[in-house]
Amino acid sequence: MSARVVDVVVVGAGFAGLYALHKFRNQGLSVRVFEAAPEVGGTWYFNRYPGARCDVESVDYSYSFSDELQQEWTWTEKYATQTEILAYLNWVTDKLDLRRDITFNTRVTSAVLDEATLRWTVTTDDDRMTTARFVVMATGALSAAITPAFDGLDRFAGETYHTAHWPHEGVDFTGKRVAVIGTGSSGIQSIPIFAEQAEHLYVFQRTPNYSIPAGNTPLTAEQVAEVKATYAERRRVSFLSGGGSPYVGTTTLTFEVSEEERREAFEKRWRLGGVLFSKTFPDQLTDQAANDEARRFWEEKVRAVIDDPDVADLLIPNDHPIGTKRICTDSNYFQTFNRPNVTLISVRRTPIVSIDETGINTSEQHVDLDVIVFATGFDALTGALGKIDIVGRGGELLRDDWADGPRSYLGLGDDGFPNLFVVTGPGAPAVLANMVLHAEAHVDWIADAIAFLDTHGFVGIEATPDAVEHWLAELNQRAATTLFPKANSWYLGANVPGKPRVFMLFIGGFGAYNDICAEVAAAGYKGFDLIKAP
Ligand code: FAD
Ligand code: NAP
Repeated sequence: MSARVVDVVVVGAGFAGLYALHKFRNQGLSVRVFEAAPEVGGTWYFNRYPGARCDVESVDYSYSFSDELQQEWTWTEKYATQTEILAYLNWVTDKLDLRRDITFNTRVTSAVLDEATLRWTVTTDDDRMTTARFVVMATGALSAAITPAFDGLDRFAGETYHTAHWPHEGVDFTGKRVAVIGTGSSGIQSIPIFAEQAEHLYVFQRTPNYSIPAGNTPLTAEQVAEVKATYAERRRVSFLSGGGSPYVGTTTLTFEVSEEERREAFEKRWRLGGVLFSKTFPDQLTDQAANDEARRFWEEKVRAVIDDPDVADLLIPNDHPIGTKRICTDSNYFQTFNRPNVTLISVRRTPIVSIDETGINTSEQHVDLDVIVFATGFDALTGALGKIDIVGRGGELLRDDWADGPRSYLGLGDDGFPNLFVVTGPGAPAVLANMVLHAEAHVDWIADAIAFLDTHGFVGIEATPDAVEHWLAELNQRAATTLFPKANSWYLGANVPGKPRVFMLFIGGFGAYNDICAEVAAAGYKGFDLIKAP
């Protein structure tokens, strides 16, 4: 079968891939998007568990590139549900007429470089080939879900679900004994809702987590109007900010204010809801004593809503500083453990030994179950890329090149893999920022780079080995000045057995990162080799 030929292949049709298609197409490039799922949406297509919502405010967690889109669409809640976000993505897809260039139900299995022409041949699981001048991996930082290999899992006679592959028709837990394994953001969002339905809910917790009430509310017409009237400024500030949202923290350090002012500042952030609490003061994630202050405030608030002090002891983290794993955003999570039909089981104290036909065996007890829900997370940042045979110069596989940790320059390109770009992957702020704006920033940078190559008669762009080494050193140095390495987080790959322990993200802030990428481009793509046709 002859290969289809396009300028750009984009892999993935979530927030990043959809914008990439629109942007490249408007630039006059031919584009083909491959998406393994039957529909658009990525994260928001798959993660349909009850309670799934964004934890960045809806009005910010949405495309900024078109004022028409942001004026026309109206979010109904502070934190949109998965259903509303998926509806939004479908609306954008239709409005921009994106579907005609997306091949659904089709997984990319390999991408192989022809070193002579610098063209990539992309093969899909229907055995079709497409050649492209550029490949853009918009495969998702959190799209490769993990189910731990518990001994005997395949023998379990009841139902099993993963939060990231939730059945589209929903699940009814009424009258059932349900286990949830995992207390990250997905577990913490869904557990209160499961508890309302299940006859009994058993929460298997390995590491307790910090969570802040979302304070979710419907958006009033006045609030929506205010945001729409000030969107340009809101977006401008977001692109300059540390995390891609319009809330700029104080520059005052934790101990430069009185105790009363400190409490007030924490209280204000607590009321704002969610992840922004970790940035109340700028030294909170770099200075242990400052972090302890934030943690003390948090603990006081949380202890106050848990009835049983022994249960509270189990639910309050004591092994990592607050904010060094993503702070979760909840609605009545800690209060759920006051319910008579909810039991917390610490698998640190009593590990899961096996699963059998009727339930879970810990080191101390057998728990009879009808349902097991895995809220056990993802092989983050590298998982989806590692599943594709990406073959660069000298026949080297990307996953071999990354065996000791992901290599990249700016998170965008790797030496040995010319004309291959990754969106919001390792080496970028990625999951530390509002990922919608981050994807836009990445795609814009890639589109500009392609335009630059085309205008100046180049056929290739490739990070130099030096630039990659310097960037990796920069990521490490920056991480080492923070408290992040103290947590066994998925930012470090610590949740996947055997994954190299490397801090994979740029921690210097979204705005600072955007500045660096802009400087690199302005300097004629400093750190990249620009390649002429032979
Ligand atoms: P994805 O949405 O993951 O899309 C990637 C797509 O690529 C998928 O559809 C996948 O099927 C496809 N794909 C992968 N490999 C292949 C292949 N080989 N062949 C073909 N197709 C492939 N971020 C925030 O900033 N704020 C939030 O509030 C927030 N909430 C989240 C809530 C949940 C439950 C989860 C899991 C993540 C959340 N995130 C949040 C992170 C979220 O992943 C990003 O915000 C964003 O949706 C990612 O978009 P994406 O297009 O980069 O990737
Ligand atoms: P996660 O944060 O990695 O949480 C997975 C949970 O499963 C952790 O509690 C983990 O324990 C536990 N676990 C994993 N393997 C286990 C095992 N073998 N035995 C027992 N417990 C095990 O995954 P997630 O909750 O899906 O969230 C991932 C990321 O997606 C979030 O950090 C966030 O960026 C995004 N997200 C956002 C939202 C939102 O609010 N908008 C919602 C969901 C997801 P350990 O901590 O000990 O590893």
